[in-house]
Amino acid sequence: MIDYRSDTVTRPTPGMLAFMEAAPVGDDVFGEDPSINALERITAAKFGMEAGLFCPSGTMTNQLAIKTHTQAGDEVICDRLSHIYQYEGGGIAFNAGCSVQLLEGDRGRLTPNQILAGIHSEDVHKPITRLVSLENTTNRGGGACYDFETFKEIKAVTLAHGLALHLDGARLFNAIVQKNEAPVLYGQVFDSISICFSKGLGAPVGSVLVGSKDFIKKARRWRKVFGGGMRQAGYLAAAGIYALEHHIERLAEDHKNALVLSEVLASKDFVESILSVETNIVIATIGGKYTAASFTSALKEKGILAIAMTPTQVRFVFHLDITEADLAKTINIIHQL
Ligand SMILES: *Cc1c(COP(=O)(O)O)cnc(C)c1O
Repeated sequence: MIDYRSDTVTRPTPGMLAFMEAAPVGDDVFGEDPSINALERITAAKFGMEAGLFCPSGTMTNQLAIKTHTQAGDEVICDRLSHIYQYEGGGIAFNAGCSVQLLEGDRGRLTPNQILAGIHSEDVHKPITRLVSLENTTNRGGGACYDFETFKEIKAVTLAHGLALHLDGARLFNAIVQKNEAPVLYGQVFDSISICFSKGLGAPVGSVLVGSKDFIKKARRWRKVFGGGMRQAGYLAAAGIYALEHHIERLAEDHKNALVLSEVLASKDFVESILSVETNIVIATIGGKYTAASFTSALKEKGILAIAMTPTQVRFVFHLDITEADLAKTINIIHQL
């Protein structure tokens, strides 16, 4: 099977597994796991932040950030397509007791003016706006990226209103590689960033939250409360260290391959439209002889897995385990449909 359902389906490479096996480990709740300490330090330094916190999932790093930035009764501003709102089980309400101001952005991207309009003024009737959370690249927005200038303008708004600014950077390296950005600039704009190692970077598990020393100290306490304090998890953190060294630059291949597939799909009469490809995700609107579901079943019969996201939209995600040969095979099959 050639699996385009998500970039989470990757298996560790032999090189990654060997590096994991050789990792020095200790009890991380005691702060004694050298591999976790190293991954936290390296990731924080990359983004110009003071400290990092290793967690089992990107959901946990996002939820810890929200919990740490807010008090119950506060409000979080985010796009209506945001992962933190759509796919984290209502955790903003459950974990942090916060309400959400959902804004309708462009493919999951918000503008400074939209955010400004979403901030409540001092009014006893309203929840207190406390946090703005952005996503880069956007998941439901099909891998769209922000322009860095927009982040700076949004930062000016959050600074002026005393709001914290969080970035859900599950696929941040896809944006950084695509736009040729310096990761260290992100630390100058955001108060916290969540990075996933289990997506395009190819690690089996793990995310790191980065921020100031004081912020991470508080988040570490909440991580214990959430049940995320692991012990000899340095074997997992080692996968992250390996990924930072070996799997970032190659993301450009995924982006190039995604573009090739989108051009092939666009030439088909059963494809009505395609979201312009910005990184590693292709979202096609299907029509004519197929629905999204019948198109994905036809592909599955030929050994290709993709996701029907809505009755008309199908998603393909490129990652470490999709080779050039897999892409060529996929294109052949699509031409036969
Ligand atoms: C995958 C993802 C996450 C976190 O997912 P986990 O499966 O909990 O690691 C967070 N945000 C975005 C945008 C994602 O795509």
